[in-house]
Amino acid sequence: MSDKPVYVTQPYLPPLDEFIPYLQQIWDNKILTNGGPMHKELETALSNYLGVDHIALFNNGTIALLTALQALRVAGEVITTPYSFVATAHSLLWNGIKPVFVDIDPHTLNLDPARIEAAITPQTTAIMPVHCYGNPCDVEAIQKIADNYNLRVIYDAAHAFGVQDEEGSILRHGDLSVLSFHATKVFNTFEGGAIICPDAKTKKRIDQLKNFGFVDEVTVVAPGINGKMSEINAAFGLLQLQHIDRAMARRREISQAYREHLKDVKGIRIVEETGQKVANYSYFPILLEADYPLSRDELYLKLKENNIFARRYFYPLISEFPMYRGLASAQRNNLPVANAVAEKVICLPIYPALQEASINAVAELINQGAK
Ligand SMILES: *Cc1c(COP(=O)(O)O)cnc(C)c1O
Repeated sequence: MSDKPVYVTQPYLPPLDEFIPYLQQIWDNKILTNGGPMHKELETALSNYLGVDHIALFNNGTIALLTALQALRVAGEVITTPYSFVATAHSLLWNGIKPVFVDIDPHTLNLDPARIEAAITPQTTAIMPVHCYGNPCDVEAIQKIADNYNLRVIYDAAHAFGVQDEEGSILRHGDLSVLSFHATKVFNTFEGGAIICPDAKTKKRIDQLKNFGFVDEVTVVAPGINGKMSEINAAFGLLQLQHIDRAMARRREISQAYREHLKDVKGIRIVEETGQKVANYSYFPILLEADYPLSRDELYLKLKENNIFARRYFYPLISEFPMYRGLASAQRNNLPVANAVAEKVICLPIYPALQEASINAVAELINQGAK
């Protein structure tokens, strides 16, 4: 049993002394927010790192999702996945949009493109898929449907920082993609987020929307919000970028170690990384199939008793929460795959500082459970 609790994740923090010079700069120039020098520098650095043309930074991923929907004037109904963090659907409700849940693909656990068309109505204006666990959606199939029905596509790419397919960043797909830099994500700025925009004009509109709709000192063109990333968060992002490759490489090693330990355990299905050339190893989800002797919750509790706090992402499904469960599309018979997966999934601890001994302890407990 580990003496210290091991959580599903631990935020990555670079050495504190490396952050002091950034703080000194902020203290020197006395610009704390409103698109200051750190903010500008981080936008440039992230565009380069991610391989995208235009990025607008935000104070968190949820406000970025809200603003993305506003920027494209999405209304009516939006098709989305129930298998995600609750902010995906909440961003629709906050915009007065009706979420329409569509079931997921049993292999990728992403929105199943084959089920989208049946959910389209005259009110449908957009699709909001999630690259769940950083595994890319079937972006081509989704785009084809969007083109046929004249729908917008906004990707909730909160898990997909740094993920690439054969042609480059996964974030270039759809009309907009939204990132989260929350403490628990692969790349964190304590709190933070971003919208990847296709062109300068869209970025300009988004930059206005995240600053109350201001165009200049005396002109307000839209009922905007305060979505700006502060200088301190942007500075921290610049420092994190110096460390991100090593952090992701360590995640990869941990992922491989788990795979090695668990490959012969009966009843354990590791959710495979599929469709990406570069993965980010943001989560390590496994599914407990019927031939694993313990139920998912039994294993969850067994780990907990041993000071290991795995998490059941994503359980409960978004469609089970009170503000959604009355919707016709939220009914369980409409979402058989998502409901089944939500009962079987457990995400194991994965983060750069995770110790070898903890990886072994987790694997050992799972192996014991199989006996
Ligand atoms: C983390 C997350 C969000 C919300 O991001 P915040 O930065 O915490 O607001 C949205 N969608 C998904 C899928 C997430 O995992």
